[in-house]
Amino acid sequence: MGVRTDRPSPTPHPGIPGTFPGFGEDAGLDLPALTPHLEAQMVARLTAKDFPAWADTAAKVGHCAHPVRLHGTSTTIDAATGEVLSTYSSADEPLGVLHVRCGNRRESACPSCSRVYAADTFHLIRAGVIGGKGVPEDVADNPLVFATLTAPTFGLVHGRRNGRKCRAFTPKGIPGICEHGRPTVCHAVHDDQDRLLGQPLCPDCYDYTGHVIWQWWAPELWRRFTITTRRHLAKALGVPQSRLPNVVTLQYAKVAEYQHRGLIHFHALIRLDGPKTDTGFAPAPGGATAALLTRVVEDAAAAVRFDAPRLDEDDRVRRLRFGTQLDARPIATRRRTDDPDRELVPEQVAGYLAKYATKSASDTLDADNPHWQRLRHAIDDATERTDADLHRRRIPRLEHPYGLLGKWRHMLGFRGHFSTKSRRYSVTLGQLRRARARFQRRLAHAHRDGTPLDVGDLNDLLRDDADETTLVVGQWVYAGSGWDTDGDAELAKAAAARAREYAAWRAEKKHHNR
Ligand SMILES: [Zn+2]
Ligand SMILES: [Zn+2]
Ligand SMILES: [Zn+2]
Repeated sequence: MGVRTDRPSPTPHPGIPGTFPGFGEDAGLDLPALTPHLEAQMVARLTAKDFPAWADTAAKVGHCAHPVRLHGTSTTIDAATGEVLSTYSSADEPLGVLHVRCGNRRESACPSCSRVYAADTFHLIRAGVIGGKGVPEDVADNPLVFATLTAPTFGLVHGRRNGRKCRAFTPKGIPGICEHGRPTVCHAVHDDQDRLLGQPLCPDCYDYTGHVIWQWWAPELWRRFTITTRRHLAKALGVPQSRLPNVVTLQYAKVAEYQHRGLIHFHALIRLDGPKTDTGFAPAPGGATAALLTRVVEDAAAAVRFDAPRLDEDDRVRRLRFGTQLDARPIATRRRTDDPDRELVPEQVAGYLAKYATKSASDTLDADNPHWQRLRHAIDDATERTDADLHRRRIPRLEHPYGLLGKWRHMLGFRGHFSTKSRRYSVTLGQLRRARARFQRRLAHAHRDGTPLDVGDLNDLLRDDADETTLVVGQWVYAGSGWDTDGDAELAKAAAARAREYAAWRAEKKHHNR
């Protein structure tokens, strides 16, 4: 590993990803513009005596940007005989401490771990579509729909209309100039880099409070959507709702994605399985087709309503719903042949969902635009009203429907998970992911309370996958997180980027040699 001085340039293939300069086997690290301070830290690291040990450690955690450090020992014992099979001590590590990946899903927090997360999500979603990873291939016979549920409008915003004018016409019933003297039309053609995208034509006409309240209740709208879908499904299949689980079950994987206007969309894969079994993935009954599921999903999404509680006594009740731009289409697999015009390929969908699972509001889009600033102000205003209301009614914060809104300001009021799925969507990777999530949670607790993370905890994390003939006994103490210096973190990130480029370069080379 060395800092790049010159860029070897493989034969350029403009437009082909993976062939721009810096991909060759000898390419060095591509480092961002550095402050003198950072540069000094990096040079110190690169010339330090223990650099090989550091590089080895960084490689072992996949060049994670903020690895967790643990001190401790563990002993693997044969459960039947009590024989000690192996011992491990963090003191034997090159740097004398065990480094563990941070496991952060966010690209901006840790590029390396977010890639692991995206890859897991990809396989998990893909397995739910066509089987594999412990999921039977029969799952590919079951009807599957990819649906996008949008937010309604809270005011006119600039948008990209596939090369057409932004807003060539004034919507029916709206004058050409608003009461604030701003036009309600826009004849520009915006490209996808345009900073106006998602910005309201008139911020003063835009319903910021309505927007924030919708976003706050979006998880509730999703919950109601799943209930409504089951109800419509029972009707479509002609069975009483109480008997539906004996006929079909609904499985899904969904992700939330921010749009430029600061509202989230839900993208979901929805699969229709047969009745619940111990292993899941029962075949769907005859008559339960992807076309039927598509229709049911569309109808259910359009039917969902929720009357949002008021912010305070001066507020009104708002009836919330999804936007009218609904999209639901069947997914094509080897065995699914219905509706070829609207087909999607499983890899497309899995890749799409996995990509969004690693993004947050600020990762995806420019978070500092005037519209998003105003959205944060709207959250501040709502929080102020909520606080006054709490005080007046003398109720605890948690009992107020908007008591925690302020905590989700950085997410523009969205408090849901970015990537969720139902339990039987895709079993094996689901278990792995839960184990990872459990680990992160316990680590966070240990971190916060300053308590040791003991191995009893670590063992049952992998309960589902552990080899039951051996026992691992040990004791671990949290020793901190992150690299020693920011310079180290930059080096790790650069190396992670380099590894990614190299993998892409190799894949490309292999492709050309075929
Ligand atoms: Zn990491
Ligand atoms: Zn416009
Ligand atoms: Zn206006």
